[in-house]
Amino acid sequence: MKLEIKDYCIRCGLCEDLHGDIFHFNHDTDEIEVKYDEIPSEKEEAAKKAMAECAITAIYLARD
Ligand code: SF4
Repeated sequence: MKLEIKDYCIRCGLCEDLHGDIFHFNHDTDEIEVKYDEIPSEKEEAAKKAMAECAITAIYLARD
C-alpha cells in the first residue's frame, strides 16, 4: 500500500506523534512526509489506524 497526504492537511502533527515510524513532519518544508514509498506489510495496520485517526481524513491510499 502507498499513502499520500492531501494538501488540506492542517499539520496538526498527530500522525507523526502516534506513528513516527511512518510519518515525518518536515518543518523546513512544512509538509508531512511518508517515510516509505511502499508501506511495509508489518506497518500496514498502523498506517490504516493513522488514516482513521486523522481528524480531517487527509491521509489517503495513493493510486498507482
Ligand atoms: S494527522 Fe492528518 S491533519 Fe494531522 S498532520 Fe497528519 S495528515 Fe495532517
